[in-house]
Amino acid sequence: MSEKNELREKLCFSTKSAAKEFDAKKREAAFAFAEGYKSFLNAAKTEREAVEFAKTLAEKNGFSPLAYGKKYVAGDRVYYINRDKAMILAILGEKDVTEGFGIVASHIDAPRIDLKPNPLCEKESIAYFKTHYYGGIKKYQWPTVPLALHGAVVLANGEKINVCVGEDETDPIFYITDLLPHLAQDQMKRVAAELTPGENLAVIAGSLPVDSDEDVKEAVKVNVLRFLNEKYGMTEEDFISAELMLVPALKARDVGFDRNLIASYAHDDRVCAYPSMMAFFEVTKPAYTSVLVLADKEEIGSSGNTGLNTNYLYDFLLELCGEKNARQALANSWCLSADVNACFDPIFPEVYEKQNSSLLNHGAIITKYTGARGKSGTSDASAEFMGKIRRLLNENGVIWQIGELGKVDQGGGGTVAQYIAKLNIDVVDLGVPVLSMHAPYEVVSKLDVYSTYEACLAFFDRK
Ligand code: MN
Ligand code: MN
Repeated sequence: MSEKNELREKLCFSTKSAAKEFDAKKREAAFAFAEGYKSFLNAAKTEREAVEFAKTLAEKNGFSPLAYGKKYVAGDRVYYINRDKAMILAILGEKDVTEGFGIVASHIDAPRIDLKPNPLCEKESIAYFKTHYYGGIKKYQWPTVPLALHGAVVLANGEKINVCVGEDETDPIFYITDLLPHLAQDQMKRVAAELTPGENLAVIAGSLPVDSDEDVKEAVKVNVLRFLNEKYGMTEEDFISAELMLVPALKARDVGFDRNLIASYAHDDRVCAYPSMMAFFEVTKPAYTSVLVLADKEEIGSSGNTGLNTNYLYDFLLELCGEKNARQALANSWCLSADVNACFDPIFPEVYEKQNSSLLNHGAIITKYTGARGKSGTSDASAEFMGKIRRLLNENGVIWQIGELGKVDQGGGGTVAQYIAKLNIDVVDLGVPVLSMHAPYEVVSKLDVYSTYEACLAFFDRK
């Protein structure tokens, strides 16, 4: 190597490729890890189902529900479930609690299509569910995709029923129509944002009238209600006290001949929730009190009492450290806001600034800040905290990269990091690069998922 090249090697920063750095054994481990991840994706498509999944694992691993006022000691394992839609778990560490918590926070809600509070209607002898979309979606992507109905209904007598139709191969699915190209010349002239107006996301629920000798008004709608009544004991008023949502009725599948990528609904943010959960359960005797957060409502700005722009994380931490230690414990805490970032897409290079974008197969992406229009609405991790995280990952041989969310002024976004920063905790975003983020079917790399798991493992195992 020439002297100039040696100098270049010594001084220049270059992102490492996991595709090159992983040996055969590690690649095998990453592929095996991905099988568990795919099962999670298929089993837990909503926040309620993800909480159920985590609760089962927690109980298997000896965790018990938080008892208010109890004095917790090193090695204790507790969990708190917030209204069946969000969850926090903790393992009490060996060090004094005033030395801080080690928190990894991801979210388990995902963009989808919610039923309206009074959803059922009939038009020209077709029964529809009227819907209101949840989170930032490109509405035109959702027609003609097979959809499954998930959620919970509270009946008039107060009983809660769980609903899941469309996931089993023998189940029916639900469907939003689109215009045939032959008659779409006016539609195709519209700008994409107006291609599918929100009110057009009406979902076919049925198309046969109820059997009757008489003339029944809205007979197709009545027939849908008859099915719901037979299966769940529902009447139409019960929709008022329901959270029913439509998600793609698609299973996670490998992509490409080499099977290195996974396509699935809701990688954002299950692709961080799952690796952080696996790492959390693996570190059984942490030095610092380890906390795993699975939050709801991130996709609509973390508002509402199951989102992180509220007090429940603070209250949980306070129960563990006690009122008088709280300020010191929080100020010394570290947090990874485990969330995805936009993977550089070679088909759309114009929206990315490549040197500061995450690349496929280049490991966990650290996002120092998100926001929009000059970093507005973000937590911007400090040089000091970036230094600590970078050193931790390097010492543990984790493949990582750095990136922003697209070009300056191209758009933007946010994560839960800002709400954790509000508690006076050091926080930075770290997660998996995603292709086609927020589409009904998104794509990630198995090597990046595994690198994120290794990053979480190094974080929880910090001495
Ligand atoms: Mn996210
Ligand atoms: Mn998102």
